[in-house]
Amino acid sequence: MPIKKIGVVGAGTMGNGIAQIAAQIGCDVVMTDIEMRFVEAGMKKIQGFLARSVEKGKMDAKEKDAVLGRIKGTVDMADLKDVDLIVEAVIEDLDLKKTVFKELDELCRPEVILATNTSSMSITEIAASTNRPDKVCGMHFFNPVPLMRLVEIIRGYATSDETIKTTTEFAQKLGKITVEVKKDSPGFIVNRIMIPHMLEAIKIVEEGIASIEDVDTAVKNGLNYPMGPFELMDLTGIDIAYFVSEYLYKELNKENKWVSPNLLKTMVRAGNLGKKTGRGWY
Ligand code: NAD
Repeated sequence: MPIKKIGVVGAGTMGNGIAQIAAQIGCDVVMTDIEMRFVEAGMKKIQGFLARSVEKGKMDAKEKDAVLGRIKGTVDMADLKDVDLIVEAVIEDLDLKKTVFKELDELCRPEVILATNTSSMSITEIAASTNRPDKVCGMHFFNPVPLMRLVEIIRGYATSDETIKTTTEFAQKLGKITVEVKKDSPGFIVNRIMIPHMLEAIKIVEEGIASIEDVDTAVKNGLNYPMGPFELMDLTGIDIAYFVSEYLYKELNKENKWVSPNLLKTMVRAGNLGKKTGRGWY
């Protein structure tokens, strides 16, 4: 089935980026959220990104308007009923994702693929809340979506080969490089590698070994990474680093390497999400 119209559930950081790149390749997009103010904030982010592309000469104003015209923002889930594929990007909460998938399963045509952008959670468990587990897979984009080239395509235990093929081809049409995660395993590839590195960076600061700035400088210049771990956490969300590490600890045999340092726990529990909240690390 050709993918001409997609649904994106959640208009936050990831959802609005996914909606934007799909509209840029000519897809019609329905982007939903729970309140109109979140939908509007998502639309504003897309408008801002496209306006900067026009300023830089990467796109003309007519094209920008055409892209925006292909995205319908709504709080009515029923608007998703005629889409060809859905990408779910609500917050990283397993029970919420299961509830959303159950609703989508009831709403969408039986052949529609339901993909989740979860950073770490079980595709198989999410799929089990539907009557189409063979048509559920992970489609893990990276932040910021329009700029980051990778998408991890994740196979749940019941995902069909056809679902993986269609989703992979769609991600490639979006201009992304895809990798297949063959087994549904917490954290997939990138987060399984990245989270221990972030936790170790926080421990180095917590133990007074080096400052945040020097850890970032060391990683950028010693490992040739484009960003240091603290810069990356400021971009992706300190809360996400915490929630993902807690989940991986629980799911991957409670190994010490997944334990959240006290500094990370305190930041999140005190509501200090670094740059997101206009504050720095303690
Ligand atoms: P976010 O908090 O920016 O956005 C989530 C949005 O979902 C919010 O606008 C919220 O109102 C909305 N939402 C909540 N419940 C909903 C519902 N029932 N129906 C529709 N919308 C609902 O979160 P985010 O950073 O965009 O993360 C979304 C998902 O993508 C998470 O699973 C996260 O782990 C994953 N992810 C995040 C990143 C990142 O760097 N931020 C990277 C890769 C994957």
